[in-house]
Amino acid sequence: MGIPLIHYGDVIGIMALDSLKPGAYRQYHIELAQVIAVHVVIALENARLHEKAYKMAMEDALTKIGSRYRFQMEGRIMFETARRAKSSISFIIFDIDHFKKVNDNYGHLSGDSVLQMMAKAVSEEVRIIDLFARYGGEEFVVILPETEDSAALTVFKRINNKLAGINYPRIKERVTVSAGVFSGIPEKDDSMETFVSRADEALYFSKNNGRNRITLYSSQQS
Ligand code: GH3
Ligand code: MG
Ligand code: MG
Repeated sequence: MGIPLIHYGDVIGIMALDSLKPGAYRQYHIELAQVIAVHVVIALENARLHEKAYKMAMEDALTKIGSRYRFQMEGRIMFETARRAKSSISFIIFDIDHFKKVNDNYGHLSGDSVLQMMAKAVSEEVRIIDLFARYGGEEFVVILPETEDSAALTVFKRINNKLAGINYPRIKERVTVSAGVFSGIPEKDDSMETFVSRADEALYFSKNNGRNRITLYSSQQS
């Protein structure tokens, strides 16, 4: 017996029932199966919506990289893992220089495509165990587990070389980024926010000292 699974007029599947006995199904079996099919459709739709909502929360809609939410959720786990393993974890935050001008001169859609192309390029440079996410509008973050500051700087140089090689359609000026890095082994009183705010402070140092550069956090800056 085959019962179509119908959701708002669309057939989304078939529920198939078999019996070893020929001619086993009567009218009331069909009616019962139809009632069950309604519940199957609801369960399937709920599962689909749940998956969709999860994806929407974890993925940035424009760039398809990790969302801020994913950064908070997975970052915390990565941070606690580093604390437990007493291993160094690095946070790189980078922000596009004078991005407002890109929007003003070439339009918001061109700005969007810069964000998309950058995100794609950086995704190709980070390891599968790293987390790359959109932190804010034109601000990105990379978390590198088991990575010390010198290695994090090397990674960012690689990222920056890759970014420098992108040809954005129509845009004449070079699009550069400023970055800040903080690396360390999480201590008892540290939280992920402590590490992020140090990387952020280093980023502001880069912004205030000519842009298109990377700064490794040191307490003297603050
Ligand atoms: P700075 O070098 O100091 O970072 O200068 P800036 O112009 O990059 O920084 P500011 O914070 O003044 O401007 C950020 C701009 O990023 C303004 C905002 O419209 C733009 N922006 C944020 N999110 C998006 C987005 O999703 N798409 C586009 N096209 N623009 C965005
Ligand atoms: Mg900016
Ligand atoms: Mg910004």
